[in-house]
Amino acid sequence: MYEEQETPGRLVGPAAIPADAEENNLRPRSLDEYIGQDKVKENLKIYLKAAQRRGEPMDHILLYGPPGLGKTTLAGIVAAEMGVQIRITSGPAIEKPGDLAALLTSLQEGDVLFIDEIHRLSRQVEEVLYPALEDYALDIMIGKGPSAQSIRINLPHFTLVGATTRAGQITGPLRDRFGVLLKLELYSPDELCRIIRRSAGILGQECTEEGAYELAKCARGTPRVANRLLKRVRDFATVLGDGVVDGETARLALKRMDIDSLGLDQMDRSMLRAIIEMYGGGPVGLETLAAALGEESVTLEDVCEPYLMQMGFLTRTPRGRCVTRLAYGHLGLTPPPEEPTRGQAPEENGQQSLFDR
Ligand code: ADP
Repeated sequence: MYEEQETPGRLVGPAAIPADAEENNLRPRSLDEYIGQDKVKENLKIYLKAAQRRGEPMDHILLYGPPGLGKTTLAGIVAAEMGVQIRITSGPAIEKPGDLAALLTSLQEGDVLFIDEIHRLSRQVEEVLYPALEDYALDIMIGKGPSAQSIRINLPHFTLVGATTRAGQITGPLRDRFGVLLKLELYSPDELCRIIRRSAGILGQECTEEGAYELAKCARGTPRVANRLLKRVRDFATVLGDGVVDGETARLALKRMDIDSLGLDQMDRSMLRAIIEMYGGGPVGLETLAAALGEESVTLEDVCEPYLMQMGFLTRTPRGRCVTRLAYGHLGLTPPPEEPTRGQAPEENGQQSLFDR
């Protein structure tokens, strides 16, 4: 699960933590309630309508994008719009082919099966999934050696919605079995502002436009983070303010939670500072950096880096991670002179950017 990759309790981390348990109440239930991701929504509307008109189940869908952007929510919406049930599981939870067989045979005609982190399915499980996706059938081997036989069990026509944070790690044969591929993008502050105001409405929490916008700016493009910030700021508003989440309370609460004006927390800043102070701004290898910070390299890679790169604070080069001049500025530090340092020729610096990412 994502939890393994994340510092426990990290407020601006995108992965679900136990405190998000009441997240279900905040989930939009229809495409019209689902804010943002307009391109994805428009296409999905057409696919859903077409399937409904033909009286067929929806084609298999692969959703990809960072955690907390609304993939589980979207799978629930697909089921609701098609008027069917949804079963939710995840790649690591399906350990053996038998686990998948049990799941598949328990589905009803048309149901949606949602597999989160589908890139983490084992090879053997994946092989059972192929005929299930293509022919709605399970091939089961009985016995061993020369007397082994394969029997085929027919399955109900179901829709698989797979979700992954790492599209690159999905095997080719699995990817090819999805009819619809949808990529979710980070949300803009305006969209997050609308999400926060909608959530505040559901929670019965008064929240001004300015207050919502202050939180939206710090929510790292992620609705899960936005909702989490709203819940914490609500506590500050209740105890220290007049109960309303307004601009002033939001700013005060974010400061108390050590989240800066661009949504960077202590861990993001430590990462940038370590590259600057210990490695002269980089390049430094991810493993070295993780060891220096006492963090797991996957945590830095999945949790800190996407947002730091999106903000233009960090670049990935073939020789390691580098901070940008913007990052120095944000941390209030003076960047080194523009001239090439560490004996590099200027052309080398220029060339390097070609290979970024
Ligand atoms: P993922 O499966 O991608 O990790 P989720 O679907 O669990 O993300 O979404 C996390 C939370 O963010 C949900 O509780 C939901 O309330 C909120 N959320 C996600 N996308 C949207 C959206 N487009 N509009 C409103 N709320 C959203």
